[in-house]
Amino acid sequence: MNPNLAKLIDLNTLDAQTIELKEQLSRIPKQIKDGRDKLDGEKKDLNEANAALDVLIKKRKELEQNVVTENDHMAKVKTKLPDVKTNKEYTAILTEVEGVKKKISAWEDEELELMQATDDKEKEIPGLKKIFQDDEAEFNAYKTKKEAEQARIEGELSALKARKQELLQAIEPKLAKRYEKLIEYHDNYAVVALDGDVCLGCHQWVLPQTAVEVRKGETIFECNHCNRILYAQPEPEPQDSAETAAPK
Ligand SMILES: [Zn+2]
Repeated sequence: MNPNLAKLIDLNTLDAQTIELKEQLSRIPKQIKDGRDKLDGEKKDLNEANAALDVLIKKRKELEQNVVTENDHMAKVKTKLPDVKTNKEYTAILTEVEGVKKKISAWEDEELELMQATDDKEKEIPGLKKIFQDDEAEFNAYKTKKEAEQARIEGELSALKARKQELLQAIEPKLAKRYEKLIEYHDNYAVVALDGDVCLGCHQWVLPQTAVEVRKGETIFECNHCNRILYAQPEPEPQDSAETAAPK
């Protein structure tokens, strides 16, 4: 095979690998971000549950304080009873006491509801905490794995880049330029095989004479439809090769 053609094939293999690796690399930040977003959501749920619990506890304390204050109030009002002179005064005190009792009773009902709500919240929190902690550990492991993958791909990419530079320098400059134009235009395949007389780049029949020349492999030919550089696929190895038939 024409040595330049062999190098062009290698070059295209390198470029195809580079494109594939770059795609893999570009997916990693989003993969990490998705994991982090999920975790942030769980952390938010947990924080909200804790905040709601704090509100419930605070409200309950306020109610308790109100009950204490009003009980004191009621006791004070009652101390006036022995000094009462008229029926009117007596009724007024009783009415006041009744009012306070009603208030306290309503607060106590509310307190019961709050106790139930506090209980429910307290039961909910450990589950949320566990989900968050489990997923946090999982995410950290995932992130470490993805970052290692990122570093590995970056290493592979710079190796491919160096190898590409070497190859480009070893190829006839005019041809290298032609290749770069083709790869830019055709995305990732500039050098393609012939399958029979069909170009595997555009899947069209090439001219019979082109196919003959390509199979000879001496000169560099291009597809008359898509202009990609063509090469002939190597003949399959014969089944009974000398190696397998070799005596022990
Ligand atoms: Zn073609």
